[in-house]
Amino acid sequence: MKDFSGVLDAVHNLIVNACTAHGRSARSVRLLAVSKQHPASAIRALANGGQRAFGESYVSEALGKIAELNDLDLEWHFIGPIQSNKTASIATHFDWVHSVDREKVLRRLSAQRPDHAQPLNCCLQVKIGDEKRKSGMPAQDAEGLARLAQQLPNIRLRGLMTVPPPSADPDQQRRWFSQLGRLQTALADAGIETDTLSMGMSDDLEAAIAEGATIVRVGTALFGPRPQKKEQP
Ligand SMILES: *Cc1c(COP(=O)(O)O)cnc(C)c1O
Repeated sequence: MKDFSGVLDAVHNLIVNACTAHGRSARSVRLLAVSKQHPASAIRALANGGQRAFGESYVSEALGKIAELNDLDLEWHFIGPIQSNKTASIATHFDWVHSVDREKVLRRLSAQRPDHAQPLNCCLQVKIGDEKRKSGMPAQDAEGLARLAQQLPNIRLRGLMTVPPPSADPDQQRRWFSQLGRLQTALADAGIETDTLSMGMSDDLEAAIAEGATIVRVGTALFGPRPQKKEQP
């Protein structure tokens, strides 16, 4: 089994250093290990190193791994685009959903969450920097959807998520992330309190932490490059 303890330490160090540089407590940022397109054996190895939260983007791929790893006490986060015919599986098998971007999906997730389960932790995915992207809602729609999330019985609104356009410029990265932070503040001013900003990936996690990220979603820096997919689902 591949030994992941070195990379896990290295990524924790990146997070701690970014927190220190920006005057934040290291405990204020959680690491979500994005395991999409990596095998259950790699997840198990990282779990042995102490990692508990894992992010997946493709429902059917995720369900196989969740079943295979059900002897471990893991927390599963869905972070991919949501087709409405997949909401029942997501509501049943995941603890968090970061990629809620429309009313229909939100209502279905609440209706399909099993009765015995805790409310589903949800973040609203917001488009930042590139309005042509498919995933995510325009920022101006967030308040309405957030109010609905607060009313639905089996949803626990946690905050906001974004995937900004890739940029190698740390200042530009920070400008994108600061927009999500400002939107969270605007929601709070409107009476909608949230505790989560899900932003930052392998290449921009320091900028995200500088701008208030509370969950960073890291794949490549932990698991190495993903195999190229021929088609995006
Ligand atoms: C794949 C993915 C990540 C992880 O990206 P890396 O660059 O590999 O760290 C984070 N968030 C989302 C939404 C993803 O789809």
